[in-house]
Amino acid sequence: MIVVMKAGCSQDDISKVTDHIDKSGLKYHTSQGITHTIIGVLGQALPEFRDTLELLPGVEEVILVSKPYKLASREFHPRDTTINVRGVTIGDNEIAIMAGPCAVESKQQILSTARAVKAAGATILRGGAFKPRTSPYQFQGLGEEGLKLLSMAREETGLPIITEVMTPHDVELVAEYADILQVGARNMQNFPLLDRVGRIKKPVMLKRGLSSTIQEWLLAAEYILSEGNDQVILCERGIRTFETYTRNTMDISAIPIIKRVSHLPIIADPSHATGKWYLVEPLALAAIASGADGLLVEVHPNPDKALTDGPQSLTFDNFQHLMSLLPPIAQAINRDITSLNTKIKS
Ligand code: PEP
Ligand code: MN
Repeated sequence: MIVVMKAGCSQDDISKVTDHIDKSGLKYHTSQGITHTIIGVLGQALPEFRDTLELLPGVEEVILVSKPYKLASREFHPRDTTINVRGVTIGDNEIAIMAGPCAVESKQQILSTARAVKAAGATILRGGAFKPRTSPYQFQGLGEEGLKLLSMAREETGLPIITEVMTPHDVELVAEYADILQVGARNMQNFPLLDRVGRIKKPVMLKRGLSSTIQEWLLAAEYILSEGNDQVILCERGIRTFETYTRNTMDISAIPIIKRVSHLPIIADPSHATGKWYLVEPLALAAIASGADGLLVEVHPNPDKALTDGPQSLTFDNFQHLMSLLPPIAQAINRDITSLNTKIKS
């Protein structure tokens, strides 16, 4: 249920509505638009509750939200959510490019990659310090040492950093270093983790689960939003299908669907979606053409020697080539490419 207040209603009118919701044992979330204040009612409200709300002063209308997710829905928040990290915006007209290795491996590896992706036009540096690996015998990441190396790379290049957090216990530590915390596909429904990242004041990028529907994904985002963190970014990274030519199947249609039903920014990850470096470029272009707010691309100085995800990692040259193809695609769909152009040229 969403309460739309009249334009110019008083603070007292708003308080009357929120008090009424409180007294009925329900929770609420207020969103201040340019002209209207919108109050989302959270929890199971009886249909009669709607009538009692409509009688209150300052209430324009009460809308029943048909979707099971409320705070993530466009009905609740008609305008796009924009997130700002150290001057880089995600979800506005500009396209955000997150790039870097799958895992931080050494100082030399992360610093050289950070410099190369920045020079090619990336706006955010990625790199995993805590790695969710299918086998316990594979490289698990450098842990806190990896976070320190990422901070070093941020200090030198000025690029904000995104890195994965795997357990509720690590959230505090990762949040000390990271500008954006990533919740990986395998943890999309780790509810204690979602609750915990919902209580921090930093942006969280939530990857789509390996076999999750769009609705399950948005309900996972709802967990974070309902804990009070409204800086949620979604990331389409491919889903499991019967196809074996690719690691996953990139669900391009998820991008315009998310744009239609939700206000949250959506990033496309063609690296994990395809698992093959030569498919990253075409899928990246398709994602931007479909309206993605940005890309997450794995880049490594020497993919053949990478400790994780080498087959899907781009070399520096291949990443630069991909970046050179983006401006005309972005321009064709009226996205702001000023920064892309400037960065590519400088
Ligand atoms: C990653 O970003 O390196 C990663 C492990 O991704 P996903 O959770 O999408 O598999
Ligand atoms: Mn990876």
